[in-house]
Amino acid sequence: RAALERAESLILEVPDYPAAGILFRDITPLIADGPAFRATVDALIAPFAGTFDVVAGLEARGFLFASAAAYASGAGLMPIRKAGKLPRPAAKVDYALEYGVAVVEAHADFPRGSRVLLIDDVLATGGTLIAAHALMAELGYEVAGTSVLFEIDDLGGRAALNDPQLHTVFHS
Ligand code: IMP
Repeated sequence: RAALERAESLILEVPDYPAAGILFRDITPLIADGPAFRATVDALIAPFAGTFDVVAGLEARGFLFASAAAYASGAGLMPIRKAGKLPRPAAKVDYALEYGVAVVEAHADFPRGSRVLLIDDVLATGGTLIAAHALMAELGYEVAGTSVLFEIDDLGGRAALNDPQLHTVFHS
C-alpha cells in the first residue's frame, strides 16, 4: 500500500513532451525505486492471477513491466514489437496514429488458444492496445486481460478499447 502510494508519486508529468501541448507521464523515476517497481508489477498482475498463460508487453516501456510480470507469475513472455524488428515471419497489424501509421508485430511462438495478459505503461487514446488486441486475434490467442500502469482518463482510451477486463493501476 505505502509502496504503491509512493509509486504513484513517482510518475512525473513532463509538459510539452514530445510535442507542444502534450503532458507526458514519465515512469522512469518509478522503476528506479525497487519497492515501488515491485508493488506496481504485483498490482498489474493481481486481478488476473491464474487466468493467463503468457504475458505480452508493448515495445518499449511495456517490456519493462511485462518482463517483470512474466517472471513474477511464471508465465512466458511475448514482445509485441514495432515495425520490422522481428527476424522470423510475424503477424502484423497496422493502426493509425495522429500523423501517419504504426505497426505492431509478434511471432507465433505460442499455441493457438493461449491466454494472454497484455501489459503497457500508459493508456492514452487506446490505439496501441486496440491494435494489440487485433494482433492477438490474428494469432489465434485469447486476451485474458489488459493491464496498464497509468490511464489518461480524458483521452477516451477505455471506451475505445472496450475491454471489460481492462485494469489500470493509476489514472489521471
Ligand atoms: P495510445 O495508443 O494513444 O493509447 O498511446 C499509448 C502508447 O503511447 C503506449 O504504448 C505508451 O507507451 C505511449 N504513450 C502515450 N502517452 C504516453 C505518456 O504520457 N507517457 C508514456 N507513454 C505514453
